[in-house]
Amino acid sequence: MSNAHHTTSRSVVLREFNKPLAVEELDVAEAGPGEVVVGVEYGGVCGTDAHLWSGRLDIPTPVVLGHEGLGTVERIGAGGLADANGEPLAVGDTVMWASSISCGSCVPCRMHEEPTLCERRTTYGVNLPVANAPGPSGSWSERMVLRAGTSVVKLPAGVPPASAMSLACAGPTMIHALYGRRPVRLGESVVVQGSGPVGLAAAAMAQLAGAAQVIVVGGPESRLAVARRLGIGDHHIDIIDGMDAAAALAEVRALTGGYGADLVIECAGAPDAVPQGIAMARRGGSYLVVGQYTDRGEVAVNPHQLVHRQLSLLGSWGFTGAHLVAYVNLLPALTARFDLASLVTEFPMADCEEALRQVGTGGVLKAVLRP
Ligand SMILES: [Zn+2]
Ligand SMILES: [Zn+2]
Repeated sequence: MSNAHHTTSRSVVLREFNKPLAVEELDVAEAGPGEVVVGVEYGGVCGTDAHLWSGRLDIPTPVVLGHEGLGTVERIGAGGLADANGEPLAVGDTVMWASSISCGSCVPCRMHEEPTLCERRTTYGVNLPVANAPGPSGSWSERMVLRAGTSVVKLPAGVPPASAMSLACAGPTMIHALYGRRPVRLGESVVVQGSGPVGLAAAAMAQLAGAAQVIVVGGPESRLAVARRLGIGDHHIDIIDGMDAAAALAEVRALTGGYGADLVIECAGAPDAVPQGIAMARRGGSYLVVGQYTDRGEVAVNPHQLVHRQLSLLGSWGFTGAHLVAYVNLLPALTARFDLASLVTEFPMADCEEALRQVGTGGVLKAVLRP
């Protein structure tokens, strides 16, 4: 394993929005101090990538796509490196890495101690264009250069890589929401709105955290069937083809002694879910909104409900490196209880456009690319 020879990588490059994505050969520089070159085994595909491709987000191009990844350490910069848990990193280790680096010096980072709200975040696969990078900066790529300051963490022994990728974005997003913003308390009744990866992560983590019952309100039925098969959630309400909102509310009330849930977690993404979720919380309960990640417009909410029902209403935005590391550290417990690998559909890297389409239509729960 020589450190000196020239390396290249075949990588998916976004040059023009809405145009075909090309696989191109890029140079990979030596790993500088604090940097790690990884051979990518899995590059995750998520809804954000479809937004990037379509040009709905203003990003610099050309850029190598892919902000979720898992791979093998190929080179480490001079001086060596420990992972985020303090374990020495070595060539050959299987690792995951956080999708972004907070700047540490803006007002939200330094003074508000809210690094998820960083004003100068750098994110792999999003705002690290090819021209500014020592090598591919996205995971839809055979190799990737991880910059100094990246939270890199070794995968715990015995955790299948595909399982780790199943909730690569959704898992750390829910760690931030549930452990940072509004923890699940022992014995609570929890409603989760949404049965995509974020909803499944919320339900699974609420169960691990000691909820007495978890009610998943989502759909279509095929997705709820997956949740049932994995044991994610205790009750499943199909709000797409099954019940209307009023019937779903009545069912939630019936399952909670007539009161409503102690905690409702919104992971649906549709604005209509919010007034429905407010109604599903008990008086004195909490409503944690996580799924409204993109702006899909306004919805009517009766503010009297917040006061009369004395609700705690919280939002949660993204995650930091620490949340990704906490997710990886939780994987042995998560994978011991839930068959997460079965959520994952693999695509060859060259089929990235098909993977994006399937994510968009809900044809697959979680798509990953194999470079
Ligand atoms: Zn910052
Ligand atoms: Zn993602």
